[in-house]
Amino acid sequence: MLIIDAHLDLSMNAMEWNRDLRLPVDVIRAREKGLSDKPDRAKGTVSLPELRRGGIGLVVATQIGRYVAPDNPLPGWHSPWQAWAQTQGQLAWYKAMEEAGEMVMIRDLPSLEKHLLRWAAPAPGTVTNSATSPDTRPIGYILSLEGADSIVTPDYLHRAYAYGLRAIGPAHYGPGRYANGTDSTGKLSADGKRLLQEMDNLGFILDATHLCDEAFWDAMELYTGPIWASHNNCRALVDHNRQFSDDMIRALVAKGAVIGGALDAWMMVPGWVRGTSTPEGTHCNLEKVIDHLDHICQLAGNAFHVGMGTDLDGAFGKEQCPYDLETIADLRMMQTLLEKRGYGADDIENILHGNWLRFLRKAWA
Ligand SMILES: [Zn+2]
Repeated sequence: MLIIDAHLDLSMNAMEWNRDLRLPVDVIRAREKGLSDKPDRAKGTVSLPELRRGGIGLVVATQIGRYVAPDNPLPGWHSPWQAWAQTQGQLAWYKAMEEAGEMVMIRDLPSLEKHLLRWAAPAPGTVTNSATSPDTRPIGYILSLEGADSIVTPDYLHRAYAYGLRAIGPAHYGPGRYANGTDSTGKLSADGKRLLQEMDNLGFILDATHLCDEAFWDAMELYTGPIWASHNNCRALVDHNRQFSDDMIRALVAKGAVIGGALDAWMMVPGWVRGTSTPEGTHCNLEKVIDHLDHICQLAGNAFHVGMGTDLDGAFGKEQCPYDLETIADLRMMQTLLEKRGYGADDIENILHGNWLRFLRKAWA
């Protein structure tokens, strides 16, 4: 079954982690043995062959570049122009992957429908393992921007739309130029409102993930275009401002949003202590994300508003993801796990791809 993953930071991994994502995961891991500059060295779970092996033929892939003011301790660029240039380097990597036949950009309905036909046909040959996979179908990607700091002025949205950017989450971690994000507070600034207005005019999808509560509610009131939450779990199950409260979930459902279940362990199980807790020690397996998906389905009264948005390459790997997942290809297990939880065939299809597709067909009609 086709699986859609609505949140991967592929180009960040290529350009900042120096990962050649055309290679099998074990080869990428082997090359990182002994490195300690990132917490997930030699523990990555995502590469293009693994996506193919898992039937994950379509992803939402990010550009990401943060601006930090002098008093902001988070890592980031010292000017919006540098952050912009960073995202343009990331775009160049996606383009290089397209030229290599590894990926294909999905930016409108015709390219989406064409790509779905490509992935509806059975995979060529028998896939035994990633190293010898004869499956060479390109991974479709919808370009999204995580944190809008790199949009130097809202005018830049025009050229971003022209090169294929289709979704924007205005905030990430901490204070943002347009909207404050996770672990931060405050309403949308005048610039933030201008950004949303211009996004609305151009037809961007607004990604509500990472908006701090006040900015979230401002955005819900202001934005008239399509809204999704690419990678977000539930505050009712793991209490943290990064997660959605039940009221936020209800508001998103009322807007027709789809919310992607994230596989970052600290968002899945309560009490995670970074660098100390382990997936095994906290019983964090794939079934835990179903608890979050199910919570949203119960609030919605149906299974039309959830999908997957794993974030599996978001600066963590095996050390901080479900212990029963060795690589992203194991997302295939979700089908059986959802069956076990009592979900019917239609609901499972909707959760694994149908809801995102319905959303996109409506947004891009
Ligand atoms: Zn994120």
